[in-house]
Amino acid sequence: VFQTLDLAPDVQPGTLTFRFDHPDGALTHAYELRPRTRQPGTYAQGFSSEDVIYLMMPDRFANGDVANDSIPGYLEGVDRSDVNARQGGDMRGVIARLDYLDDLGLTAIWFTPVFENDMTPEYGAYHGYAATDMYAIDPRFGTNDEFIELVDACHARGMKVIMDMIHNHVGDRHWWMADPPTSDWFNSWEEYGQTNSVGAAALDPYASDSDRDRLLNGWFVREMPDLNQKNELLAQYLLQKTVWWIEHSGIDGIRMDTYVYPDKDYMARWVDYVMAEFPTFNIVGEAWLQRTAHQAYWQTGFEGHTDGYDARLRSVTDFQVHYALVRGFQDHSSLFELYIQLSQDYLYDHPNDLVTFLDNHDVPRYRTQVGGDAAAVRMALAVLLTTRGIPQVYYGTELAFENDGDEALGHGVRRQTMPGGWPDDDRSVFEAADRTPEEALTVEHFRALAQWRKTAEVVHDGRLTQFVPRNGTYVYFRWEDEPNGDAVMVVVNRNDEPYDLG
Ligand code: CA
Repeated sequence: VFQTLDLAPDVQPGTLTFRFDHPDGALTHAYELRPRTRQPGTYAQGFSSEDVIYLMMPDRFANGDVANDSIPGYLEGVDRSDVNARQGGDMRGVIARLDYLDDLGLTAIWFTPVFENDMTPEYGAYHGYAATDMYAIDPRFGTNDEFIELVDACHARGMKVIMDMIHNHVGDRHWWMADPPTSDWFNSWEEYGQTNSVGAAALDPYASDSDRDRLLNGWFVREMPDLNQKNELLAQYLLQKTVWWIEHSGIDGIRMDTYVYPDKDYMARWVDYVMAEFPTFNIVGEAWLQRTAHQAYWQTGFEGHTDGYDARLRSVTDFQVHYALVRGFQDHSSLFELYIQLSQDYLYDHPNDLVTFLDNHDVPRYRTQVGGDAAAVRMALAVLLTTRGIPQVYYGTELAFENDGDEALGHGVRRQTMPGGWPDDDRSVFEAADRTPEEALTVEHFRALAQWRKTAEVVHDGRLTQFVPRNGTYVYFRWEDEPNGDAVMVVVNRNDEPYDLG
């Protein structure tokens, strides 16, 4: 049953009671209309190039409450012998490690999805992208109140929180699946139809209807039914749920998963709806595409296409700079990749709002991608924190983590737990004395840069001037006009020997 309430401007908080009559007896439902208690400026702050975002997977960071590792009635508990199974990390563990994160110089934390994912153990939904209740924190991560406590604790330290959301799909154990509210709630296929995962089909001027249909209406995987955002009731549900979370928890931003897979008119409408309610908010859309022109299409203000579409998004994940940072540091002569990538920034209306990264939870660890070279990780971190964009660091990369095993073992090898985050760990990377020399060198390098960056306005908003790489060396400046006139010179030297700039 869907009930729409039109509220008068002077409506007062209180409890509304609905009664539904039925031959078997009446059902009553109490709905609490809550006062708006949060103060403007203390939440929904948004994020920008002034920030450094830390991406973490709550299951993998720290286990602060072993009592919630396995919850009676939930399909999956903890199995620490299987890297692709749930490990037991939770909100309580993060709250206990905020000193570490604050000390690193981070200003925002992006958590992979925290919604209930009550899926079967074979599926391993510790990653959170198969929601079974969009209004509840997964109890193995904690309660809604614990999540709010975490957000408040971050705010008390001047750190922001970015919530990961998914409007493309849910998990197949979602209660909607047993009895969908309408016959077109999900996009259905006569036989199982999986998305082609080719985001270009959403904007390709030559796309066939069948390819576009596959991309948008195919299921992400068998366990993730595809939502039909053209259904107005579902659209309203998703819009209102988003505003509810911002108001309920006090988050500052959203990372929207699989932005190019749902109905794109709905997605633009969703951005406008949220931003109209919270004008200081910000959203970054995951647009994992193959080329710069594809990526630019999803940032608001793009006028390079004839279809007139505007995705309304201010921030988009910058996979193209990610690829360039990987290729650019894979050997000693490829820094040209970085130069060439950034030379295409004229395609964007505001390139400084793109979210840049070395790696994330969906790709092999950066150090693994650059051949295990920890020095390359440190150089790339310096570029990430000084070139244009909103830098995002994947947990563990500040410690030069490599994949924990072969890629063939599954995505779990890219998402290892933080040593010291679990009560029975034999060492702790949170303690300086317990770090390996390579971890210590990298984390101190990162910390110095990130702490300096907090007030280095020239790196937040200054202009970028880059020079064609020569002899394995790439030079660029971030600089401001007078009266400030600050400038930062960055020299990346991939040679084994010091380079004579003269
Ligand atoms: Ca736990």
